[in-house]
Amino acid sequence: MREGRGGSESKVTIVGAGPCGCFLAYLLEKNGIEVKVIEKKGIPWLPLKCAGLVSDRIKEIIKIPEEIILSECNVAILRFPGNREVVIKGKEKAFVIDRIKFDKFLFEVAEGEGAKFFLREDFKTFKLRNNCVAIFTGKRRINSKVLVGADGTLSKVRRNLNLKIRYVEGFQARVKMKHKLNEVELWFDKGIADFFSWIVPESENVSRAGVLCSRNSKLSLRKFLKKIKAKDIIDYQFGYIPSYFSKKMSGERIILVGDAASQAKASTGGGIVTGLLGSKIGSKCIVNAFEENCFSSKFFRENYDEAYYKEIGKELKRAYFLSRALREFNNSDLLSLRKLISNEGIQKIIRESGDMELYGKWLKPIFLELSFLKTSLIFILRHPTLLGLIHLLL
Ligand SMILES: Cc1cc2nc3c(=O)[nH]c(=O)nc-3n(C[C@H](O)[C@H](O)[C@H](O)COP(=O)(O)OP(=O)(O)OC[C@H]3O[C@@H](n4cnc5c(N)ncnc54)[C@H](O)[C@@H]3O)c2cc1C
Repeated sequence: MREGRGGSESKVTIVGAGPCGCFLAYLLEKNGIEVKVIEKKGIPWLPLKCAGLVSDRIKEIIKIPEEIILSECNVAILRFPGNREVVIKGKEKAFVIDRIKFDKFLFEVAEGEGAKFFLREDFKTFKLRNNCVAIFTGKRRINSKVLVGADGTLSKVRRNLNLKIRYVEGFQARVKMKHKLNEVELWFDKGIADFFSWIVPESENVSRAGVLCSRNSKLSLRKFLKKIKAKDIIDYQFGYIPSYFSKKMSGERIILVGDAASQAKASTGGGIVTGLLGSKIGSKCIVNAFEENCFSSKFFRENYDEAYYKEIGKELKRAYFLSRALREFNNSDLLSLRKLISNEGIQKIIRESGDMELYGKWLKPIFLELSFLKTSLIFILRHPTLLGLIHLLL
């Protein structure tokens, strides 16, 4: 959908037609609020930049067609240095989704509901006016009541709001290799990546093998592919992933959602479920803003930032502390960790209450388990970041 080069008006303008921008556009249009979406790419869902692993909680947020789900995983194999491993079989299921189909699906439902997309158009900047926000792209100016930054980790909207972001590098390859469809592998080995590496099966013959690290992800991925003897590479995907939870995600007439709001889990780099939750809470807030005709920064802080924090903020903070601890560990710490989580009592807690999204549900009982505390006290005291995490759990 195109318009002339001059200025135009809209109730809400969203920058970024990724999953979070499209989901928000869909929810707002469904509530009768007209939306324009600015997207710099010609085809928003390409190229793929994701391992596609999501918790089953996604189904509580959005109904997705079955053909988007490639497989269901109920086994996580945690691999440690020296070929040691811990196998976790939980009650929880995780899905591997076809991310290209998923993003395309969200784009189509938003467009079907009436959202107008301006593709191959780069958002440049915005200026607050008396009763609107003027949005400047490479091709036009749009006067809008509300601006949403859904423009990913390197968000320009966020930068224009003077909010900083911390991020890490995610680099993966799709490789031809045989792998069980219900198993994901997480590798913790500082000789490969300073954070972790993964193998997520896409089909029985193709897997997504990737690394998450602060820098030098190209080198880390090369080491990882060598380690798992992956030779037949189909293609590569690279992207930046937020690594810190920030409480501020709005301003006067403006909100951020998804990676732009740093709504990803720092511990895993997963940002789909938590970002879509941001779109859901953001849509309620924007609908209320129009009903009350109030677009102040105070209104958005109270109805968006604080509402989001109440829903999932503590979990994202826990994930951040966990990620910091994991990054601080050396290989000998990782081996001590392996020993701790191999304990039958701990395994039982993980089996029964393990949850990809809600760490509090299983981390708290683990820290309270007497045998864990006895054996891990020195380990915990050696890593003050863990004390921060425990403080958040209690
Ligand atoms: C290698 C890798 C693996 C990952 N694996 C997982 C996983 O297994 N599970 C999971 O949950 N998450 C994963 N993630 C994270 C996940 O991909 C993101 O959290 C998710 O894409 C965030 O969606 P979004 O809509 O916020 O942003 P994005 O998907 O980044 O979309 C932002 C959109 O904004 C557009 N845009 C940017 N700037 C402008 C501009 N100036 N003007 C106009 N348009 C603009 C972009 O072109 C893009 O289309 C992974 C990420 C990487 C890099």
